Amino acid sequence: MTRIPLMAGNWKMNLDHLEAITVVQRLHWALQDAQFDYSQVEVAVLPPFTALRSVQTVTDADSMAIVYGAQDVSTHPAGAYTGEIAAEMLAKLGCRYVVVGHSERRQYHGETDQEVGEKARAALGGGMTPIICVGEALAIRKAGEHVAYTLAQIDGVYAELGPDLAAGTVVAYEPVWAIGTGEVATPADAQEVCGAIRQRLASLYGRDAAEGIRILYGGSVKSSNVASIMAEPDVDGGLVGGASLDPAEFAKICRFAEHIA
Ligand code: PEP
Repeated sequence: MTRIPLMAGNWKMNLDHLEAITVVQRLHWALQDAQFDYSQVEVAVLPPFTALRSVQTVTDADSMAIVYGAQDVSTHPAGAYTGEIAAEMLAKLGCRYVVVGHSERRQYHGETDQEVGEKARAALGGGMTPIICVGEALAIRKAGEHVAYTLAQIDGVYAELGPDLAAGTVVAYEPVWAIGTGEVATPADAQEVCGAIRQRLASLYGRDAAEGIRILYGGSVKSSNVASIMAEPDVDGGLVGGASLDPAEFAKICRFAEHIA
């Protein structure tokens, strides 16, 4: 089965709505200049909530092929949940993706696998694709327990989703020790865990379903290391943090196929 790679730029809490417009336009122009083929790689940006409307307006106005999504979603559909954003609101803004369970949300907001699964279900209910983040901290890797730990997160999150919903998800394996640190996992490290995730999805939902689910790697992805990571058979794209704030660099990352020797 062919899985179209996804390069998703997680802007985190960066760029106001005006800066967001500039970055999306520059990304679009950089890819246009390179005659980028969006049918070969899907390109997404994940702005803060406050910039989504602006990104929607500029991508619509200029008929850009860049898609976008949010960095989080409420588990609740509506109501007295001050500060939260419901899936339906994101869907109305044209979001295609929603990141759920990023390690920064797990770490600073105590999100559990169950809650992450509920958020994934909420995103799916709104017609969007959750990008479900999993990955181990350094101490767990040093103890050699990174595969078991990450698979336990997969089990916990997917327990909230039935087989029908699982097929509509994307997974992002992001070793916490590689996020924002400049420390990148080796291609073999990424493949070890991404391959194990696919096997676990196959045992949960069958080989065909697992072959259709995209598994991204995230953690200090740059244009200089993306091609070797993307060459691994179970890595279907990247969740890119810091490097996605620089449109020229993110465009190069999206063009990873041109760097493969
Ligand atoms: C991330 O935010 O998901 C991420 C992988 O960040 P960075 O690329 O900066 O390590």
